Amino acid sequence: MRLLYSNENRLIVANVRNVVEAAGIEVVLNNEFAAGGAGELSPFEVWPELWVVNDADYERATRLIENSLSARNAVPWRCINCGEDNDPAFETCWKCGHDQPGSRKEGI
Ligand SMILES: [Zn+2]
Repeated sequence: MRLLYSNENRLIVANVRNVVEAAGIEVVLNNEFAAGGAGELSPFEVWPELWVVNDADYERATRLIENSLSARNAVPWRCINCGEDNDPAFETCWKCGHDQPGSRKEGI
């Protein structure tokens, strides 16, 4: 057992749990009901914790979470070559193949 992820927002933790479980990784959620109801603030609030059961899955689960969270927070980018709006998951324009501005390929 190894602590995988923790966040004060139970909805985010639940979402992360879904992502990891969808990949076939066994996880356990601790402190799920420790916090108050929605909108309540507790002075002794305990963050829900997501634990990975098999330590061997830890690295893979971490990557899944990073990918999931970064994809959600990212915004579409506009190709400087053809002006097409592209999904943040793509590093190159789906229409013309131009590299995303600021992508790692350009070394910025
Ligand atoms: Zn383009």
